[in-house]
Amino acid sequence: MSPFRSHMKAALAAARAAAARGEVPVGAVVVSPGGTVIAAAGNRTRELNDPTAHAEILALRAACAAAGSERLPGHDLYVTLEPCPMCASAISQARIARLYYGAADPKSGGVAHGPRIFQHPQSHHVPEVYDGIDAAEAEALLKAFFAARRG
Ligand SMILES: [Zn+2]
Repeated sequence: MSPFRSHMKAALAAARAAAARGEVPVGAVVVSPGGTVIAAAGNRTRELNDPTAHAEILALRAACAAAGSERLPGHDLYVTLEPCPMCASAISQARIARLYYGAADPKSGGVAHGPRIFQHPQSHHVPEVYDGIDAAEAEALLKAFFAARRG
């Protein structure tokens, strides 16, 4: 096992790229058991006219395609914001080993808030969850984005 190294900076870069495209700035990366980033994505719901095109879903799809598998055992997912219930469920379905996320999302999150997907008995696979990783930076990106849209 390789020594721990956070890949949240790569997820934050994907979030900033999403903001530059006019999308809500959330970014996600999937890291292989060997410690390589195999997929990175930011939100593309507007660009793709797709309410499911959250950063985590796009990153999982790309990672599964790269791995040639519908499951990603031993892989880690980093995302700048607490996953919503849809993404939390997809993370469970993909058998992600560890989830690292940044900002908490009391309004739309589904991990520590709302339905708390991983605590639900129907969640057949539960990743290890680490929250608050670079949370201030992720929150600042979101605040700046929504402030600019209101202004
Ligand atoms: Zn989501």
